[in-house]
Amino acid sequence: MDVDDRGGEEAAEYEVKKMEIKIRKLEGDEMEFVLSGANPAFANALRRTALREVPVMAIDEVEFKVNDSAMYDEVLAHRLALVPLRTLLKGYNLPGECGCREGRCPKCSVSLTLKREGPVTALSGDLKSTDEEVVPVSGSVPIIKLEKGQHLELTAIARLGFGKEHAKWQSGVVAYKYMPVFELDEKACDSCGACVNACPVKIIELAGKKPKISDIMLCTICKACAEVCPPKAIRIGSDPTKFIFHIESAGGMPPEQIILKAMGVLEDKLNEFSKQVKKL
Ligand SMILES: [Zn+2]
Repeated sequence: MDVDDRGGEEAAEYEVKKMEIKIRKLEGDEMEFVLSGANPAFANALRRTALREVPVMAIDEVEFKVNDSAMYDEVLAHRLALVPLRTLLKGYNLPGECGCREGRCPKCSVSLTLKREGPVTALSGDLKSTDEEVVPVSGSVPIIKLEKGQHLELTAIARLGFGKEHAKWQSGVVAYKYMPVFELDEKACDSCGACVNACPVKIIELAGKKPKISDIMLCTICKACAEVCPPKAIRIGSDPTKFIFHIESAGGMPPEQIILKAMGVLEDKLNEFSKQVKKL
């Protein structure tokens, strides 16, 4: 990605950097990457778009045929809605954009049925889906405990939706922090080692008698090292052009897809914005 489109005399006043992403960790539902050459506004736009505007599947409507359980229909429907479902990246229409208008056709919805009789604990894994790829991420989420003789029979309709409408449609958790910066005044430092003991995440070591950081990304910017330093030789700051992002998917889609999709949404919005501006 390139941010160099300011042009003219103004551009000369800025040091225009290329945006870069370096993946630090990508394991299962978790991802960590460093975004550099950006600014807080862009980092926050990316975070908010990933949280609010990446569509995922969730149960949106429940029809109860029988509910003898101790819970009201509404409470059970709410519990079902919060069960994360796997989301196909392509293949379903958003209910508002589907030709059927009702949001109930196979192009924009998936039906999941559940039928259990107590004594048993009904689990998310008991939901039988009409699409074998849109199923609960985990089969072991308890929905309701049924006592002897209690029946539960229902049909749930899952649809695509956005986190900005309801938390059940949030694709995961996306957060970032500024890149920490550790500065040492080597002349003032007397190698007392107080900072080594004060650091709660233990990333300072005395290498060649002067404090060195083993992994700056683990720094929480608590400034404990700077506070205990007798000659005040340490300064802790943060770089407002570098961000450490952490993404944890709810399981509906891989974390890298959440970010890619969020970038696509941002790009579409900016294209639309520039189209509107050109019309002025
Ligand atoms: Zn439809």
